[in-house]
Amino acid sequence: MYNLTVKSSHKNELIDITDKINKLALEHGKNKSACLVFVPHTTAAVIINENADPDVKVDILLGVNHLVPDYMQFKHMEGNSDAHIKASLLGSSEIIPLQAGRLTLGTWQGVFFAEFDGPRSRTVLISFI
Ligand code: ZN
Repeated sequence: MYNLTVKSSHKNELIDITDKINKLALEHGKNKSACLVFVPHTTAAVIINENADPDVKVDILLGVNHLVPDYMQFKHMEGNSDAHIKASLLGSSEIIPLQAGRLTLGTWQGVFFAEFDGPRSRTVLISFI
């Protein structure tokens, strides 16, 4: 298992980690068939989506923020229930097939770390299976 450190700079942010994962896959995943990406946090997630047009990132965050407003009625004392809900909706892991040490993503796909309670330093765990 390998650790990636991701530093977010906003409360809500999508950070493209595709190149970092592909670098690890070339070094350690040549004889493996899949890459497991896991986010060990309760207010962050990992998603796969378009990394060609940067406006898609902006629109995904706009949409998620619209779906999960920061209600005053939330009871969690830390005050970040919106972040917990967003992380739950998007999920904490992805499995991507590997071929010759490369992620077999679609042409327009990238892997994004999804921050919902930044800015913070975060960890993403990468396993080749
Ligand atoms: Zn919390």
